[in-house]
Amino acid sequence: YLGYNGSVNQRRESLSMSVEEVMSLPTLVDEQTSIYDAVVSLFLEDAGTLFVTNEGLLTGVVSRKDLLRSFLGGQTQATPVGVLMTREPKIIKVDKDASVLEATRLIVEHDIDAIPVVSKQEGGYLVVGRYTKTNIAKLFVEVVGND
Ligand code: ADP
Repeated sequence: YLGYNGSVNQRRESLSMSVEEVMSLPTLVDEQTSIYDAVVSLFLEDAGTLFVTNEGLLTGVVSRKDLLRSFLGGQTQATPVGVLMTREPKIIKVDKDASVLEATRLIVEHDIDAIPVVSKQEGGYLVVGRYTKTNIAKLFVEVVGND
């Protein structure tokens, strides 16, 4: 998208941009992925939250603290993430065509770091991106920082 010149109208427009224009690539793992491999992919993909899929469709979310808690709870590194993830139907997700404001509200209201950006399919949701507090921080700098 084009940059911002700091006008109030352009700030408003930036909030009605679709989440698809601002999102990052999704960080995906399978339900069978071990806790060990999940931690490795957090480092490799520089992410804090992993989205879990089964046959390509969203089934869960695993956060940093979910993984830390699993170690305190005595789970082994070989345990599949399917055991500890937050599951559907509890997943807070946002459609790729939703506005940035709507997606940001979900993050604030539910006090979470990231939400999967999805596209509805027959039988579930395909994960097409992630929208995180980092996306919000970057957008804030772009919108406010040009004064
Ligand atoms: P952390 O647990 O590392 O602080 P979060 O605050 O994002 O990260 O996650 C808090 C809890 O909410 C975790 O148990 C996680 O599984 C869950 N969670 C995170 N993101 C979502 C989401 N988009 N939908 C539903 N639950 C989520």
